[in-house]
Amino acid sequence: MRIDIVTIFPKFFNSIKNHSIIKRSLLKKKVEIFTHDIRHFSKNKQKSVDDYQFGGDPGMVLQVQPIDDCISQLKSERDYCEIIYLSPCGETLNQVECNRLSVLKNIILLCGNYKGIDQRAIDLHVTKEISIGDYVLTGGEFAASIVLDSVVRLIPGVISNESSALFDSFQDNLLAPPIYSRPALYKNLQVPNVLLSGDTKKIDKWKEEQIIKVTKNKRPDLLD
Ligand code: SAM
Repeated sequence: MRIDIVTIFPKFFNSIKNHSIIKRSLLKKKVEIFTHDIRHFSKNKQKSVDDYQFGGDPGMVLQVQPIDDCISQLKSERDYCEIIYLSPCGETLNQVECNRLSVLKNIILLCGNYKGIDQRAIDLHVTKEISIGDYVLTGGEFAASIVLDSVVRLIPGVISNESSALFDSFQDNLLAPPIYSRPALYKNLQVPNVLLSGDTKKIDKWKEEQIIKVTKNKRPDLLD
């Protein structure tokens, strides 16, 4: 999978690319991640890419031309399955969408800033708008990094024990059961005996019961 990130803050992603699953997936060549600085496509001396809004409201807008030129160049080099604008006005990201994105070949993540981006850049190129929740961030880079992490970990072969991602919360629209590690007894708190029994049938049954119990308690809406 190839992910191109269009942003005014390309360095934001340096640390993300150097940690945990994303770093590992890059090393394993399961994913390629490229950042593209919108400022490189500015046509003025100051390399500015924002301007005042028409209509008189306060706040700056990322201009259409540099974004159009940047994405047009990328599109001239390869086909993209999705060009995603991270936006509070988009469809809220969920696990079903993460699974869908994880098997696509090439995607672009477009990050807005200030008051957002000129609508014409969206009309020209964007195939999907994704929100990470009903609140407003300062910039799309934070949202893009959440899409990156949640999608990349699902790419086949990225997580060593692939089944571990399959049993995470939301994969079956249910929450994950409680988990324990050593020691079996800590401050009078005992790991459930069934998990120490070695009886896989009983353990599976216990997990199934816990999944329903936890989901019922914490997210009853999922059971509806
Ligand atoms: N004026 C916009 C509005 O009210 O919808 C908010 C702009 S926000 C300050 C700047 C940028 O942050 C947006 O262009 C978008 O890329 C990103 N952003 C903010 N909240 C987001 C969210 N919930 N999900 C995804 N991206 C978000």
